[in-house]
Amino acid sequence: MTASAPRHALISGASVAGPVVAYWLRRAGWRVTIVERASHIRNGGYPIDVRGTAAEVTQRMGVYDQIKDARLTRTVSQVIRPNGRKLIKVALNDIIAGVNTIDVELARGELTQILYDVTVGDVEYVFNDSIASIVEVTEGVHVTFVNADPQTFDVVIGADGIHSTTRRLAFGDESQYIHHLGPCVAIYNLSNSAIEPGKGYIYTQPGKSLSVRRSTAGPARVFAAFVVDDPSAIDVDDVKAASRTMKEIYRGAKWPLASGLVEAVETADELYFDTVSQIKMATWSRGRIGLVGDAAFAPSFLSGQGTSIAILGGYVLATELQATTDVSAALNAYETRLRSFIEKNQALAIRKKSNVLPRDAKSLRQRNRRFVTVPILKRLGLMRTLSGDVREASNELSIADYGLGR
Ligand SMILES: Cc1cc2nc3c(=O)[nH]c(=O)nc-3n(C[C@H](O)[C@H](O)[C@H](O)COP(=O)(O)OP(=O)(O)OC[C@H]3O[C@@H](n4cnc5c(N)ncnc54)[C@H](O)[C@@H]3O)c2cc1C
Repeated sequence: MTASAPRHALISGASVAGPVVAYWLRRAGWRVTIVERASHIRNGGYPIDVRGTAAEVTQRMGVYDQIKDARLTRTVSQVIRPNGRKLIKVALNDIIAGVNTIDVELARGELTQILYDVTVGDVEYVFNDSIASIVEVTEGVHVTFVNADPQTFDVVIGADGIHSTTRRLAFGDESQYIHHLGPCVAIYNLSNSAIEPGKGYIYTQPGKSLSVRRSTAGPARVFAAFVVDDPSAIDVDDVKAASRTMKEIYRGAKWPLASGLVEAVETADELYFDTVSQIKMATWSRGRIGLVGDAAFAPSFLSGQGTSIAILGGYVLATELQATTDVSAALNAYETRLRSFIEKNQALAIRKKSNVLPRDAKSLRQRNRRFVTVPILKRLGLMRTLSGDVREASNELSIADYGLGR
């Protein structure tokens, strides 16, 4: 490689963190290859949020308006008590919109498509492939692939999610880093929807929640989250076992729609089923191999911040990489800048005050009381009072005087 050749980065994973790193490294003059295991951009679509400083990053990328245009339409959900009776109607969008005015809730697939579209022109995407081995050599990082020919890169970034292959190959088995928080989550579409567009239901018992929501575009989506005795014993790839577990968990539910929603898991085309877990590592890099997003610091959906910290993490990583020719020093600088922000956001997932999955009867009563106050707070313009902790965490790291593309 000559001194003037652009530096070449390999990124594993084409979802959120990967394309963000790719975008900014390209802008800084790097050559970038992204390898993605799936055959195409995965556009399965549970709702995610782009919040606070992460939304500012997307403004600097010029994609914020597109993200805003893809905002999920308002749905009004009927909240059901454990005994099956109706409590109140609430629009979750209102709670989400009350965090920061810049925030946007959209389907995850819409976001990944936008990030793909803004990078595909000058980033090399390789689908249907995966890293098979990684070895650091004097000239860089030597990588073999399952399908493509081996190559040597200046840096390798693992942005391949909570079950990262890059992490396993460079840092060892997942079991050292994964922390199960207790629940499992199942998300799937209802093929023959009985739910009207713009409507939804939220049925919660202590430690188990079953909701369904249908935006004006797209199918109704079921979201089930439930605490299990031993999350490490769950085989997340076994759909039949997922269905058996769910039937057991929701047996005796006093809400008439529950059994039909649970039955639908068996025929769901795109099922997302996993334990609700965080990744915690003592360090996010080793030499010239770095991790970002869920691969390095998954906070779990209970934090509501996974996407935002993946975006901001990708941005900081690229900023530090372009600032020096010493890749390993850049990866250390990225971690130094980001770590306390990440820890603050991961902590959101274990707070008692969860709107999604209150674990005990008392927390559920408190959650329901919060829901009852939503219409009043909205009328008074006080929705911000519901989400101070999320607002603080999502803005904890300022990029006002920092980073690429200012
Ligand atoms: C149910 C649920 C709800 C959520 N809700 C929210 C929310 O409300 N707000 C929020 O901010 N976040 C939310 N999140 C979290 C958010 O989806 C993730 O934190 C975020 O997508 C992380 O992005 P990422 O790019 O790091 O990883 P991922 O989005 O997991 O992407 C990893 C990519 O790597 C690819 N890949 C995997 N293995 C390989 C391999 N061996 N080789 C090549 N490619 C590979 C995958 O196909 C995928 O494209 C939620 C997550 C879940 C599961």
